[in-house]
Amino acid sequence: MRTGQSLFRGGGIVLLHLLVLAALIVGTQAADWWVFAGVYPVAAIGVGVAMHRYFAHQAFRTSRLFQFALALMASLSFGNAVHFAGKHTLHHRHSDTPRDVHTPLQGWWQCWLGSLIDCGHSEDEIRREARRYFELPELVWLYRHGSIPALVLCALLFAIGGFSMMAIGGCLPSVLLLHQSSAVNYFCHCRGSRAFATRDQSRNHPVVALLTYGEGWHNNHHRFPRSARAGMRWWELDLFYGVICLLEALGLIWDVQRIDKHRLQAAGVGTIGTKYQQGV
Ligand SMILES: [Zn+2]
Ligand SMILES: [Zn+2]
Repeated sequence: MRTGQSLFRGGGIVLLHLLVLAALIVGTQAADWWVFAGVYPVAAIGVGVAMHRYFAHQAFRTSRLFQFALALMASLSFGNAVHFAGKHTLHHRHSDTPRDVHTPLQGWWQCWLGSLIDCGHSEDEIRREARRYFELPELVWLYRHGSIPALVLCALLFAIGGFSMMAIGGCLPSVLLLHQSSAVNYFCHCRGSRAFATRDQSRNHPVVALLTYGEGWHNNHHRFPRSARAGMRWWELDLFYGVICLLEALGLIWDVQRIDKHRLQAAGVGTIGTKYQQGV
């Protein structure tokens, strides 16, 4: 069963890359890139805000309807919000130990792609960690059929604008977001600075943070996993937190988890890492 799933995931990842490459070689239209400009931000929010900060860490609360909308956004790039919530909880619990399936200590390949092809955990383990979502039939359906929304999107784009629109508008966001997430998993556990003395090897990496809209402030995140905000200092740009504030202002989400200054200081910000030692 697991070998079959791994082949499906591995084959899917290769196919997505090949489709994008083929479109870039054969040629694209301006309309393809306009569609990309519309799909990519929604899919990126689906990964960073929905899948990571909400489903895995419950950084805010929302209605059942908007929760489903968030899960759908995550699935636009073949993400599976409930599965990710289970897997990512295990990453935080076992970070940089032999039980962490995508620590760089297991090598670049396993960290960047191997853990996406075979997540390294049984379905029972994943379901146990994400059990709060299994009471909701709409999320159970999406857990079992997580690829359908992205496939429907690709089919629609193919029908509207042909092969290049499907590849650039439907597949390219998934390819980019896959590598952005893996960059966090890899670089933010072996390069960069540490603001907090966490038990793992998590790091803050400004370049990765810029390329992942705030997700690269990963040492901050490992210290305060439930915080809606990963960039703790004013200069630690965190666009996803901006999106969360916007959704809060619109009344779509509430109970946003924030860390106040006193808790930050009590947690020892400034104890490790050159930038922080200088009191910036
Ligand atoms: Zn991590
Ligand atoms: Zn996390």
